[in-house]
Amino acid sequence: MHFNEYPTQSLMYIANRPEIVFTRGAGSWLFDHEGKRYLDFIQGWAVNSLGHCHPAMIEALEKQARVLINPSPAFYNEPMAQLAGLLTAHSAFDKVFFANSGAEANEGAIKLARKWGKKFKNGAYEIVTFDQSFHGRTLATMSASGKAGWDTIYAPQVPGFPKAQLNDIASVERLIGEKTVAVMLEPIQGEAGVIPATRAFMRELRAVTEKHGVLLIVDEVQSGCGRAGTLFAYELAGIEPDIMTLGKGIGGGVPLAALLAKEAVTVFEAGDQGGTYNGNPLMTAVGHAVISQLLAPGFLEDVRARGEYLRTKLLELSAERGFEGERGEGLLRALVLGKDIGPQIVERARQLQPDGLLLNSARPNSLRFMPALTVTNEEIDQMMVMLRTVLDSL
Ligand SMILES: *Cc1c(COP(=O)(O)O)cnc(C)c1O
Repeated sequence: MHFNEYPTQSLMYIANRPEIVFTRGAGSWLFDHEGKRYLDFIQGWAVNSLGHCHPAMIEALEKQARVLINPSPAFYNEPMAQLAGLLTAHSAFDKVFFANSGAEANEGAIKLARKWGKKFKNGAYEIVTFDQSFHGRTLATMSASGKAGWDTIYAPQVPGFPKAQLNDIASVERLIGEKTVAVMLEPIQGEAGVIPATRAFMRELRAVTEKHGVLLIVDEVQSGCGRAGTLFAYELAGIEPDIMTLGKGIGGGVPLAALLAKEAVTVFEAGDQGGTYNGNPLMTAVGHAVISQLLAPGFLEDVRARGEYLRTKLLELSAERGFEGERGEGLLRALVLGKDIGPQIVERARQLQPDGLLLNSARPNSLRFMPALTVTNEEIDQMMVMLRTVLDSL
């Protein structure tokens, strides 16, 4: 079919999309309406942990679709319980609430912290968040985010989110007062251009929040579920937060997210929290299949090895072209360009012939790499060849 034959004009405008309609995906590759192939280092925005259309996901979807799709969130179902059990067995947390998007999981974390503050901290409700952070697109999560301009688009904001500076513990302590109930951060700021909180900062944060009796919330929507080379990124610092949110990778591409908390923090009472699709068996069955793959012997080791391989290749390229190095953890990495050529590279990479390359430029001066966790070294090599071709053409 020709692009103009698709009724794309009926879609509400929210972004400048290229004139491509994707029709098929397999592993690290996507195919468009004309049959052109693209090596995909975006993967649904760090979502497709197992690449496109992984057999384990297809099997879980087919199997579950035949037996039960939605009994209502007012009842238990099998996959919901199984996935919760898997997550608590392999994390620092005791309780799980499922949601449908990262923003919704974060809304839940904010509500849980505020409820805990009401119960145990004289109604304290402020949550210290960070400049450049990203927590989602609902009104509260936009208010929690430190993205430039987001304070005015849909003003007035939801109050109660003072902003500190990442990796600057003094900037956090200055903001902690009587009204403070929690500190919330991404262990690796994704949308800011892949900026990791240092391990030392994570440990300082844990100590400071403990000292002041406030909660530590990690938004692992992007950094969690194997992406950082460990099941969860907080493990890298050897600390245990009080609350964690998951999204993106947990569903491997289907809408699934989760709010996890330590027993002592789970203060929701009947009616405080819920949602029509929350914990539905179709999505949680897929989540269970995805997490089971991540837990298979050697899987996370492989993610770390491939992350190290990608890191080495990016450093070589950086030295060769006079860029400013790279950063990240596992298979969430950024090449620091040092000049605002990111968007131009992204555009040309997609237009490469015969095969295109899908890359993301979270900030104009960097490129972000978030391939499938199952990406091979050969595919990384292919990506580097394509990237060099683009750089030569600039
Ligand atoms: C993507 C993202 C979100 C929002 O998730 P949605 O599923 O798009 O609502 C929240 N936090 C972080 C760190 C993210 O990367």
